[in-house]
Amino acid sequence: MEFWNKELETLKSQKLRQLQLERLKKTILRVYQKVPHYRVKFQEAKVKPTDIKHLEDIHKLPFTTKEDLYVDYPFGLVALPVEKLIRLHTSSGTTGKPKAIFFSKKDINNSADIIARCLVMTGAKRGDILQNSMTYGLFTGAFVMHYGAEKVGILVIPAGPGNTERQITLMRDFGTTMLHITPSYALYVASVILDKGIDPRKDLKLKRAYLGAEPYSEETRKKIEEMLGIDIYNCYGLTEMNGPGVGFECKYKAGLHIWEDNFLMEVINPESGEPVKDGEIGELVLTTLNREAMPLIRYRTRDLTRIIPEPCKCGRTHRRISRILGRSDDMFIVKGVNIFPQQIEQVLMSIKGVAQNYQIILESYDEMTVKVEIDKELFDGKIERLIKMKEEIIDKIRSATMVKPKVELLEPGTLPISEGKAKRVIDNRTI
Ligand code: AMP
Ligand code: ZN
Repeated sequence: MEFWNKELETLKSQKLRQLQLERLKKTILRVYQKVPHYRVKFQEAKVKPTDIKHLEDIHKLPFTTKEDLYVDYPFGLVALPVEKLIRLHTSSGTTGKPKAIFFSKKDINNSADIIARCLVMTGAKRGDILQNSMTYGLFTGAFVMHYGAEKVGILVIPAGPGNTERQITLMRDFGTTMLHITPSYALYVASVILDKGIDPRKDLKLKRAYLGAEPYSEETRKKIEEMLGIDIYNCYGLTEMNGPGVGFECKYKAGLHIWEDNFLMEVINPESGEPVKDGEIGELVLTTLNREAMPLIRYRTRDLTRIIPEPCKCGRTHRRISRILGRSDDMFIVKGVNIFPQQIEQVLMSIKGVAQNYQIILESYDEMTVKVEIDKELFDGKIERLIKMKEEIIDKIRSATMVKPKVELLEPGTLPISEGKAKRVIDNRTI
C-alpha cells in the first residue's frame, strides 16, 4: 500500500489527537486575535482561547454557519492581510451572494498536499494521466485537484466539463487513466462511450475515477464501475474547506478518510446542536486546523453522515465517515414524509433497464412525480414490459420512502444533460 506521507497518515491515534489539540489551540488564538467577527462571537459565548485545554472543549465554542460567511462579506473572516492572499474561490451557491474563500500560498500548497495523499492512497502515481472534467473557474473542484495531481507528478489534462465527444477523444488520444468528474456527468459520458460501440475495457486505458461534488449512491457507483470497467473512488469536499479531498476513499472503498491533522470533525444533531453518539448519523461539523488565510471554527456543513470509528485495513489512522447521505437542506417533504433525493436515486440505479438520467418534480405537498429515462431498446412496442417496469419503480420507491410516486418513463436524451452538479429536484411549489 502506497503512502504520500506515511508518517502523518499512520500517526498513532494518541499522537494525532495531540497534534490536533496543538493546532486547535493555535487556530483559536489566531482567530481571536485576527478576526473581529470571531472575537465578538467568542465573547458572546463567554469563552476565551485559554478555555480550550482539551479537544472536547471545542463544544464550548460557537458554530460558524453559512450565514456567517455573508456577514462582513467578502473579507470578514479572513485572518491575513490582502497582500498575503493569492487565490479566491467561491461556492456554487444557488441563491444570493456566493461564499468567498481565500487561500494563502501555504494554503494552496497544503490543499495540494492533501490531494496528493488522497490520490496516492488509491494507487495513483507518476505515469498516470488525469482527465480533470470538473469546472475550472470560481469553483474549487478542478483547480484543487489539478494542483494536487501535479504535485504527485501526474500528467493532468485540464478538460473541464462538457463537450462529451471531445472528452472521449481526449481519453482515446492521450490514454487517460483517471477521471475526476461528477457522478451525474460520469453516467452520461459512460452511456455515450457505450452507445458509440467503444469497449472501454479494450479501447480505453481508464483505470479509476474520482467522483464527487454531489451526493450519489452505492448503486450509482456500481453501475458506472460496471459500464466502464474501472474503480470509482468517492471524493467529498466543500469550497469552505478547500474543496475536494476533505474526505476520500482508500483502496478498500469502505468510507472516506478525513485528514484529521487538517480537520477536526464532529457529528451533531442538526436540531439540538449536541454531539450524537459515536457512529450515529448527524450533521458533519468541521474545524480547520491548518489553514492560514481563512480558518473556520465549527463550520456546519449541513451534510449528513456518520463517523466510522473502527480502524481501516489500509493502516491509516485518520478516521472515516460514511458516504454523505444527503444535505439537510436537500431534503423535501411530501405527504408529511421527509425524503432525500438519494433515496430515489438508489432505487432507480438498482433497476435493470433504467438509464442514467432522472428528475423529481414537485408540484404540490401531496405528490411527487419521478421522470426517469430508460434504455431505448425498451421502447419496442411491448407495452406490457413498460407497464411492469413502471410498477416496479413505483413499488420500490414507495417502500423506500413511504410515498407512492407518479412515474413517467422517458426515452434517453429527453431530460436535460448535466455536465456539472445535476439538478435532480424541480420544486415548483410556490407556498
Ligand atoms: P460546493 O459548495 O460547490 O463546494 O459543494 C459542496 C457540497 O457538495 C458539499 O457540502 C456536499 O453537500 C456536496 N458534495 C461534495 N462532494 C460530495 C460527495 N462525494 N458526496 C456527497 N456530496 C458531496
Ligand atoms: Zn483506509
